[in-house]
Amino acid sequence: MIDPMEFTLDVRLIRDILSRDYARAANELRTLGVFAALANSRQVHEQRIADAPDVSSLACKSGCAWCCYFTVDVRPVEVFAILDFVEQSFATEEKSRVYAQVHANSVVFENLGADERGSRNVKCPFLSDGRCGIYVVRPHSCRNYHATNAAGCQQSYEQPDDLEIDPEFAPGVYQAGAAHVEAFTTAMQEAGYDVDAYELNQALAATLAQPSARERFQLKLKPFAVLEGEPVIAEFDDLGPHAK
Ligand code: SF4
Repeated sequence: MIDPMEFTLDVRLIRDILSRDYARAANELRTLGVFAALANSRQVHEQRIADAPDVSSLACKSGCAWCCYFTVDVRPVEVFAILDFVEQSFATEEKSRVYAQVHANSVVFENLGADERGSRNVKCPFLSDGRCGIYVVRPHSCRNYHATNAAGCQQSYEQPDDLEIDPEFAPGVYQAGAAHVEAFTTAMQEAGYDVDAYELNQALAATLAQPSARERFQLKLKPFAVLEGEPVIAEFDDLGPHAK
């Protein structure tokens, strides 16, 4: 999470996104179900970022993948959507390669706390030839990672121990994307779903080992028997739809 003290909050924009996207997500969770609501959330998220006033300052482009060696947090609903996509779209050989890499990575991350995970470079199993193999269903945390200077991302890659390196984020893009994710997460949480954050590889490996995780999630139970999630901290809590 970026320290909001580093930039001026656009309170009007954040309030507007929190309120509109929360109402939309809450309605879609009720009427369309959790996976359709997530699919729509991805589209809304893309639009929020495209509309941000500083979107043209981003250095992110196809083939730039320094950040795909950094730790990725996911919510359970994203894990199941990613696995559906892989099962439907990947050839058998590629699927085997990805799942083997998921298992190898999850062993690396075993018993590491969030800070230790953050100071390790581990190649994402979906990164292939410098491109994301699950781009259309990539998690919110990947969608929210942007930089205006790729040199900062490269530096973070080269010095993974140094968590103080600043990859120069675009404040407008960051706030728009983060507000959308917070709105969607709040709606999910209030609908009773687990919205804890899990490390990507470990959550994928846990689901592959125990497919009933999906059913448990849909029953609004904690999905993963072997994993402890981290509660998500609401960044814009005092500006949200229920703020006084
Ligand atoms: S899911 Fe895609 S965008 Fe995210 S880290 Fe992996 S390869 Fe990169």
